[in-house]
Amino acid sequence: MAGIEITGVSTVYPNGVRAVDDLDLTIADGELFALLGPSGCGKTTLLRTIAGLEPAAAGSVAIDARDVTRLEPGARGVAMVFQDYALFPHMTVAENIAYPLRVRHVAKSRQREVAAQTAGSLSLGELLDRRPGQLSGGQQQRAALARAIAAGAEVLLLDEPLSNLDARLRLEARTFLKRLQHELALTTVFVTHDQAEALALADRIAVMDSGRIRQLGTPREVFQRPADTFVANFIGSTPMNLLPGKASDGAVSVAGARLPVEVDLVDGTPLVVGVRPEYLKVSGAGLSGRVSIVENLGVTSLVTIECADGTLVGLTVPEQEEPAVGEALSVSAAPGRLLLYGEDGRLLG
Ligand code: ATP
Repeated sequence: MAGIEITGVSTVYPNGVRAVDDLDLTIADGELFALLGPSGCGKTTLLRTIAGLEPAAAGSVAIDARDVTRLEPGARGVAMVFQDYALFPHMTVAENIAYPLRVRHVAKSRQREVAAQTAGSLSLGELLDRRPGQLSGGQQQRAALARAIAAGAEVLLLDEPLSNLDARLRLEARTFLKRLQHELALTTVFVTHDQAEALALADRIAVMDSGRIRQLGTPREVFQRPADTFVANFIGSTPMNLLPGKASDGAVSVAGARLPVEVDLVDGTPLVVGVRPEYLKVSGAGLSGRVSIVENLGVTSLVTIECADGTLVGLTVPEQEEPAVGEALSVSAAPGRLLLYGEDGRLLG
């Protein structure tokens, strides 16, 4: 059992930057967990604080129910794989993988055995005698993972594990990482700024901003019901449409439409109405405006509509039904697909 319990942790750099701010987080044993957020939100600092590479200014970190807050990185039972993989260039793949065992003075024969075994499970069996410079990006990544796994850690910490790979390799490595993590059931925390990667890979995601967690949930939860407009903007290949509206008589008026809502609201309350582009459909009545941009994507076309209250992006229509620029168009979404946010940006209901 190697869950991670982070309680009231703050990490402050010597220049006074509070990169992690009074953060609580529990990561379950065997979970594949993503720390997601824009550049500078503190995700790498949090990962380094779990690893013991940055000291926590306040709070505690427990791994496997053991308080490790004051322990050196090497004594925490974690292995961290860095963005640049940090393989030793003068060592072969086998020597790199066996390195954690060598420093612990494990017998040479055992080192070779573990290296061969781990390399085999990561499809590196043929490459044991190569040096890192003779490997592709994906192979280097697997060698770095093999070294972390050979170290016998119960927790894997991965900093932007896929960012150095080209688009095709990244998809392959994603699948590989997910399968490997599932097979080994190692508690794995990875940092990414790529929301699609977090959604595709993780069991759960923490969306971070300014050293804090904005939302913690499964990929489905953060995609379907972003807790606030920051998360709504950050998650999704096209950001969520957010239009200003007003509560009136059990409904919300927005962009020329009155949409019934189930949340109890005082008449006149200003709101932000959120709808994912993926859920927009052309309909007789609904949010209305004029088509301003049409992008032909081959099989489908992507339509942008200017409404009185703002812009709706990401309506997808079959290419042959593409509207003309300037045409009046109404769109709607199923009632369950509309999200209401208060003036403070928090999800209502
Ligand atoms: P990125 O995706 O760009 O790597 P991040 O979310 O991982 O960003 P961090 O690297 O954790 O963010 O940085 C969080 C904050 O701490 C930022 O404001 C950053 O400028 C600051 N910071 C990071 N490292 C240091 C350091 N060594 N000294 C001082 N400030 C730092």
